[in-house]
Amino acid sequence: MGKPRQEGFPPGFYFVLLVKDDPLVIPISSRQERTLAKPVEVEGIGFITGSFVTLRFCPAPENTGIVFHRTDLSPKTFIPAHVTNVTGTNRRTTLGQKPFQVTLVEHVLAALSGLRIDNCIVELNAEDPPGLDGSASEFVNLLKKTGSVAQNSRKMIYGVESPIIVESKGATLALHPCEGTGLKMTYFLDYGNQSPIQKQVHTQIIEPALFTREISQCRTFILEEEADMLKAQGLGSRTTSQDLVIFGPKGPIDNQLRFANEPARHKVLDMVGDLALLGVDLCGHVVAYRSGHPLNVELARNLFQKLQMTISPSARLTA
Ligand SMILES: [Zn+2]
Repeated sequence: MGKPRQEGFPPGFYFVLLVKDDPLVIPISSRQERTLAKPVEVEGIGFITGSFVTLRFCPAPENTGIVFHRTDLSPKTFIPAHVTNVTGTNRRTTLGQKPFQVTLVEHVLAALSGLRIDNCIVELNAEDPPGLDGSASEFVNLLKKTGSVAQNSRKMIYGVESPIIVESKGATLALHPCEGTGLKMTYFLDYGNQSPIQKQVHTQIIEPALFTREISQCRTFILEEEADMLKAQGLGSRTTSQDLVIFGPKGPIDNQLRFANEPARHKVLDMVGDLALLGVDLCGHVVAYRSGHPLNVELARNLFQKLQMTISPSARLTA
């Protein structure tokens, strides 16, 4: 029997159709991991629970990752900051199962990830970290003052060979391939023409000095009616319009923006924190349109699944 031949092609000409299934996550580079030079702590009121809380960043051995330690619970509870431990994405990111959980972890994670501190035990004696000014600024200042040290282990940097896109209800979040080993993020904020928060965009290269200067001090924002609704549910009772940015019909109430596009920049901050839950560095261009914690975590989940296939190809059969 003769070999099969493609119609319309001359005899002896065969081609193989390469069907690209899911885009892959590919290793691009690596860098030395870092931990803190010594412990450092900060206290304040948790935005969610309203409790007075002490948070302590502690050095950790190689390959530990970021692990939250609830020191107020018995038995001692350690919750690794990993996407597989996410249990909530409504307005904030929550890890672990009640009562063994931590919530609103994204600003703490953004500070650590933005400064490339990879191994750290984050002790806290309440369910949510100190809210401070609603940004990651104070965490970043403390961590920088304490300093970090290089470790022998290496952190892998992964990219994609073609875009990976997640979407939901008109919002999208994508990781695009990019030349080099760096990470760039763009956020398009669009709450519609009626919103007191104007349409805005921000693009940022994510590396420690730029993260510190351009992103870390950008605060959480919320609409006045949302703030009232949360208060009616007993949340954020000790949080005022001076603690974060509350938008009324005419703009920020009792407050001034630190950048004209501070809300879009804060969305970048949240993405840095949520994508740190992947446990590896990313390179490429993250492009977001109207997305928030649910899509950030969905992208991290999607990437984690692909990462497992990259690290262990047999996982492909069972995924
Ligand atoms: Zn946030």
